[in-house]
Amino acid sequence: MADSSFTVFSETSSGSYVGGRGGSGTGGSGAEFSAVAGGCAAHPSKTIPDTVLPAGARAGSSRGISGGGSGTGRRTVATTEDSLMAAMRGAMESSVTTGKPGKRTSPLEYAVCACIAEDAELSHVYAGATAVSSEMTKAVCHKTTHSIRSAVKAISAAQKVSICFVLDTTGSMAGHIQGVKNQIGQIVTQIRSTGCKIAGLAFVGYKDWCDGADHFERLPFVSDVTALENFLSRIRPTGGGDFPEDVVGGLHNAVCLEWPQHGGTRVLFHIGDAPPHGRTGGGGQHYHNQGDDHPDGHPSDVPLNTLFQKIREKEIDYYFGKINGHCDDMLKIFARHYGRAIPQYDTSNPASIASSVSKSVMESVSTRSALAGDRRRDELPLDKSMPKWMMVPVASCTVMKLKLPASVKAIVDMESLEQTVTRSYLQVAPRPFDHGSCRLAFYGRQLFSAPRTNDSDSSVPSVVTDVPRGSPGFTASDEVVLKQFIKPPTDVKLDRSRYMVDLETQAVAAFLADCFNERLGRTSAASPIRLKFLMAKLARLKEDGGYRFMAMEKKFRGTEAMVKYTNNYSFVRASDSDEMNIRCALAVTFSHFTHEHTNGYCMVTDLQGIESSDVKGRDVMLLTDPAIHCPGVLRFGKTNMQQAGIDAFYKAHKCTKYCAALGLRMPSISLEK
Ligand SMILES: [Zn+2]
Repeated sequence: MADSSFTVFSETSSGSYVGGRGGSGTGGSGAEFSAVAGGCAAHPSKTIPDTVLPAGARAGSSRGISGGGSGTGRRTVATTEDSLMAAMRGAMESSVTTGKPGKRTSPLEYAVCACIAEDAELSHVYAGATAVSSEMTKAVCHKTTHSIRSAVKAISAAQKVSICFVLDTTGSMAGHIQGVKNQIGQIVTQIRSTGCKIAGLAFVGYKDWCDGADHFERLPFVSDVTALENFLSRIRPTGGGDFPEDVVGGLHNAVCLEWPQHGGTRVLFHIGDAPPHGRTGGGGQHYHNQGDDHPDGHPSDVPLNTLFQKIREKEIDYYFGKINGHCDDMLKIFARHYGRAIPQYDTSNPASIASSVSKSVMESVSTRSALAGDRRRDELPLDKSMPKWMMVPVASCTVMKLKLPASVKAIVDMESLEQTVTRSYLQVAPRPFDHGSCRLAFYGRQLFSAPRTNDSDSSVPSVVTDVPRGSPGFTASDEVVLKQFIKPPTDVKLDRSRYMVDLETQAVAAFLADCFNERLGRTSAASPIRLKFLMAKLARLKEDGGYRFMAMEKKFRGTEAMVKYTNNYSFVRASDSDEMNIRCALAVTFSHFTHEHTNGYCMVTDLQGIESSDVKGRDVMLLTDPAIHCPGVLRFGKTNMQQAGIDAFYKAHKCTKYCAALGLRMPSISLEK
């Protein structure tokens, strides 16, 4: 949800959640934490463009306000950033007065409080306020508008992409040279389809010292695909001599090119099947054990620390297309100088070059988008292991869950959702096992003193034995994941609002998913796969005289990998199988549907989750952490990119057969490409 995931952060670690039972079948920790790359198993780090967070995402969650009435009628799409920002600000401010203070806290009040909870400046100004005033709302709207504007700028810059291919062009590489040539058009099309622009394409081919002092073939950055294709058609796969090649020289040539677009995304995609010179380990570089004419490296080799310092200074993202295992040691050595692992893609089949390059570019774009607005945080101490529950104290708590909205009208009218509160017991691991940009994830266990009615094996009451001595007797336990905001609230009284904003976002998305399944099921394109959202609950634990709030979710069952289908901007996952094609198509259709079904009021995006099945055994895309764009409305947390997010979606969207079956149409004003 909203939180974060958005953050296109590569710091987010990758692991999928493994998990326990999920009573009602689902659960998981947040997508934010576990973007898992589909399709490129060799890739050690995350490969998925994450959610985008507005710059300075300090504002916790919040967004605009709304105009109650502004939700009707199909929205047209603004074509310039300034006009959409102006429209949004106008709508937000005019609606300030429409928030009706009622008995129950309204979504608007939660949104305002959630924002103030993370904003020291606002918190200071409004310290001691006992109710949400229109002045506070206006101040939050103002900040929100500003941060979305910055985010859009950062993303626009990051979407200008330069790519340099670095290829070993010796005898064994004919297939891959041809592969790049054949697929460059496809690569450019795929990248453009996500809303990115190609700022430049370049090529460096390298051979070896035995092929002459200048054994490189360089094409400086060009904007024309044909120029690159022509250049590649003249390259002959020859030479190479001994086992290693002049890899270091090739990379250095690429780095020294004049890269376009400072501030844009710069990708160096290197494909090779042999390591650099260096067998003896001289200088710490032991790349291989085979025949080497320069076993200590060539005297003219640029030192690795110099090479990688230049790569970092020029903000170039280095990716490697792997053909065999000969470069594994090289990548480890390079990683030490690069300062992080080098993402690898399996390109042993030259046909996979296009998808590997596209994924690399999307990863870089999303990382750059986020970094422009936010900084990587220091590594937090994590504990990936499941705690020994016997040692973890049992805390009494309340668990609150929200009912789904009754109708689209209830959503647009910002009706408060009904809450159900139960008393319960929780154990929370002392340390988090993962973190995203905004939240920490902890293992936890909810304990029950009566048999669970939804467990098939619960007919025989059992006793939970691994609890600390002196705990009450429990007959069942459920493994859960608990998520807590990293940033402490500026005012503890406002902390709960941050969680309420996320819960409401999930509830609205879940309601719209039900509508979607039902509508699509009645069309000729009925899909066998249903969409479902994981519903979090809010746990409130009594601690140190105060309260600790955590969002609680069931753990995902099994070891399914989290798949990110879309983010809250223009990213759509590149699919690599028919099955994934269907899922990606359903994901984008769902986003399109939510916008039409709510008459342009909002759009659910940032779809990620696992493959699962429901109680009837039907396939389910179990989704978590959605973002909702809601133009002109302060609602749904900081991943609400308002009209800018909706525009970005439509720019990249091509209607699917499911869109057609549902009668969905593209917005009336044509988008500038
Ligand atoms: Zn569509």
